[in-house]
Amino acid sequence: MWRRPRRFVVLLVVLELVALVGFAVTWAYSPVPTGTDWLRLAILAAGATVHIQLTQRQEERRRNRAGTVLIDLIAVWVFPATLVLPATLAVLLVVLIRLQRWFTARRPAHNFVYSSVSHALAAALAGLTYAATDPGDWTAVSAVGSLREFGLILVAALVYEGVQVLYVGGILAVASRRPTSRTVLGSRADNVLELITTGLGAVTAVLLVTLPPAVAVMAVVTVVFNRLAELDQLQDDVVTDPKTGLLNMRGWTESAERALNRVRRAGGTLAVLMVDLDHFKWINDTFGHPAGDDVLAATAAALTGVTRPSDVVGRFGGEEFLLLLPEADTAAAERAAERIRTAIGDLRIETTDKRGARTTVGRRTASLGVAVFPRHADSLEGLMQAADTAVYEAKEGGRDRVAFARPPG
Ligand code: GH3
Ligand code: MG
Ligand code: MG
Repeated sequence: MWRRPRRFVVLLVVLELVALVGFAVTWAYSPVPTGTDWLRLAILAAGATVHIQLTQRQEERRRNRAGTVLIDLIAVWVFPATLVLPATLAVLLVVLIRLQRWFTARRPAHNFVYSSVSHALAAALAGLTYAATDPGDWTAVSAVGSLREFGLILVAALVYEGVQVLYVGGILAVASRRPTSRTVLGSRADNVLELITTGLGAVTAVLLVTLPPAVAVMAVVTVVFNRLAELDQLQDDVVTDPKTGLLNMRGWTESAERALNRVRRAGGTLAVLMVDLDHFKWINDTFGHPAGDDVLAATAAALTGVTRPSDVVGRFGGEEFLLLLPEADTAAAERAAERIRTAIGDLRIETTDKRGARTTVGRRTASLGVAVFPRHADSLEGLMQAADTAVYEAKEGGRDRVAFARPPG
């Protein structure tokens, strides 16, 4: 924690102190728990424990991969606690859940504590808000009365989500050098997931009050739901090259075919670039394969950095990369290829040598082959073939250069 920027540390401590005040208020305004409250807490804690224990491995995988805000699915258990239990017990439930989570979290302690505080504060404030709205008895409401009750649940859900977004988003905005809405607020899919989990939490609350044994069904639902949440991630994995984070060949071909179809319909042009790093084997032989991998990752980042978001960048395999530039004609493709060649030449990559000592790899070069649609070929396969042949000409011409495909015939 102390290695983080000063303003981050200050904000973290201040926000945690604010949360402490929140907990003191919660303590002061919550009713003393009754026997029924303790029983309901036990049921929710049992459900949460089943959920956590049966999804442990999966959560570990999710955590290892998540690049942004991590949505925790425990709202299914915590949100109902804010509705049916005194706020103090809702906070206690968060503590019980987070103690179990500690073992899978594998994050710096200050992060873990902060997000635990965020969960607990959201639960406490949502609980206080809900209690203040003077909710009715769910087992004895009229059809119209149930609308009012549902409205109150929505208000509590808003507070529950709002507190977390502000509390976690605030610190993330300060912590990251270039905050984007995605890194601060999470992706759309993450937020949809969080909303659904909170909705499931509301259902758990109703079951807990009207038909407590049925909460067991929710435990099963959440385990299955956890797996569904992972599907999204797996779909991404299928088209991603893990070493570089670029598209793999499956993903590249899919995106490239779509781009080619669009350009073909519009009667436009596009370029396919093949990039092959020169004497890459030498890096492996000299510094070891981990250094080679670092060079691949740095090259991938450079390729993404000097191209547009609409360009399709992928790893063909080994030390070869493929780019598709929509709308590019011959002149634009040449400029892009030269920009890429220069960017690779400018790379200085911090890595380790065979003995594990720090070293810098730099002054690397690459050979590029360029093929333009429709001039050199009119299918994706034809363009790739033409660009590949051009790479070999660049190699034969002495490497560190850009070669164009020859027109057919
Ligand atoms: P040229 O200038 O002719 O392209 O020479 P080169 O050494 O770059 O080409 P060559 O095809 O002889 O060697 C490619 C090397 O890339 C061999 C292989 O071990 C290495 N390689 C392929 N994939 C990976 C990888 O994922 N990581 C690492 N570290 N090396 C890889
Ligand atoms: Mg090669
Ligand atoms: Mg090579």
